[in-house]
Amino acid sequence: MTDHIVVLGGGTGGTVLANDLADHLGPEIDDGSVEVTLLNDDPDHVYKPVWLYVPFGQREPADGRRPLDELVDDRVDVRIDRVTDVDTDAKRLSAREAVDPIEYDYLVLATGSTLEPDRVPGLAEGAHDYYSEAGAETLREELLSFTEGHLVLSVVGTPHMCPAAPLEFVFMADDWFRERGLREDVDITYTYPIQRVHGNPHIAEWAQPIMEERDIEVETFFNAESVDPEAETITSMEGTELDYDLLVGIPPHSGVDLVADAGLGDDGWVDVDRHTLEAEAAEDVYAIGDTADTGVPNAGSVAHYQAGVVGQRLASEVRGRPATATYDGKTLCFVETGMDAASFVEFDYETPPSPAPPSEKLHWSKLAYNESYWLTARGLL
Ligand SMILES: Cc1cc2nc3c(=O)[nH]c(=O)nc-3n(C[C@H](O)[C@H](O)[C@H](O)COP(=O)(O)OP(=O)(O)OC[C@H]3O[C@@H](n4cnc5c(N)ncnc54)[C@H](O)[C@@H]3O)c2cc1C
Repeated sequence: MTDHIVVLGGGTGGTVLANDLADHLGPEIDDGSVEVTLLNDDPDHVYKPVWLYVPFGQREPADGRRPLDELVDDRVDVRIDRVTDVDTDAKRLSAREAVDPIEYDYLVLATGSTLEPDRVPGLAEGAHDYYSEAGAETLREELLSFTEGHLVLSVVGTPHMCPAAPLEFVFMADDWFRERGLREDVDITYTYPIQRVHGNPHIAEWAQPIMEERDIEVETFFNAESVDPEAETITSMEGTELDYDLLVGIPPHSGVDLVADAGLGDDGWVDVDRHTLEAEAAEDVYAIGDTADTGVPNAGSVAHYQAGVVGQRLASEVRGRPATATYDGKTLCFVETGMDAASFVEFDYETPPSPAPPSEKLHWSKLAYNESYWLTARGLL
């Protein structure tokens, strides 16, 4: 009998996991007792952290793309298809191009986040973003010709990917305009939905004084209700209206519809045990990365660590041993604080973050990490 492990989603979590499974279960794959399939709807693997640098002219969108089949071990069956339905009772998936259903013994959902700008009237038309490849490219054109006026960055929805990236953007923009002698002609405002500048109180406490020092205006309790692209205004549910000349919006996020349709969780996020990463509503289903609702940030580092845990658990399970590996909430992130400096945070379920003093060394470490990512995705680091 062959155990069929299906990994749905070939982003950070899915790719690291598929390679990890090939590594751990090589002998079983070779003798035909285990089969691993990775399903993704794009032939390319996309590394999203590159998009932060695109608006500042430092990276090209193509730098964040590589063909998936170059990154994934040959022992994994890579299929490019869009999965349309998950039936956890029958243990099978339907996909657009597949004639027959895809049967599984174990399923791992690694379907990431979906952007939903249409949830806020006027946002899609009025705001730019760097949370999508196309958005980052368009924003680059706007930013390069922006020499004076009011730049507003509004965090519209939480949770969103990489909670630090909006802070990074305003810190980089501040420095970038200063370096070009334009900062006195550009006002920068940052808005956040709750009473502080970041969801995590320790990171908020660290970031707020940097914003004050750099003359970055802050509007907290700002839950964007609508954008008027004609009048160039953004209005909050709390009744604050801001005029802008260039609006950068972090759009609301959700998971994917098929998760909600399968009864695995609301808004497309899978309800999981935050230590074992097993889905609460179905047997033999795991979730990793953004789609797993564990309460930790939607970050590539999280997806990576969780992939390692699920890889070990699945290897134990197919060998008939108890699965003992657990996820402890480990998250790490380099945070750009300008064009040439960065901080670093590392935390888990028990230990809160304590951002490191910004330095040029940490900035170069972040850039080096971004380069070495392609080895990480292959499972080589
Ligand atoms: C601007 C920006 C900067 C960031 N910076 C950082 C950073 O510095 N550090 C960090 O740790 N994280 C960062 N992140 C976050 C990080 O990119 C994500 O958290 C990470 O990609 C999540 O990995 P994942 O595997 O869960 O999902 P993804 O990497 O998004 O992969 C999901 C995959 O599933 C596929 N998929 C979805 N639905 C289907 C379907 N129905 N059928 C088939 N395939 C499907 C998608 O096409 C995609 O390939 C950043 C994100 C952004 C946008």
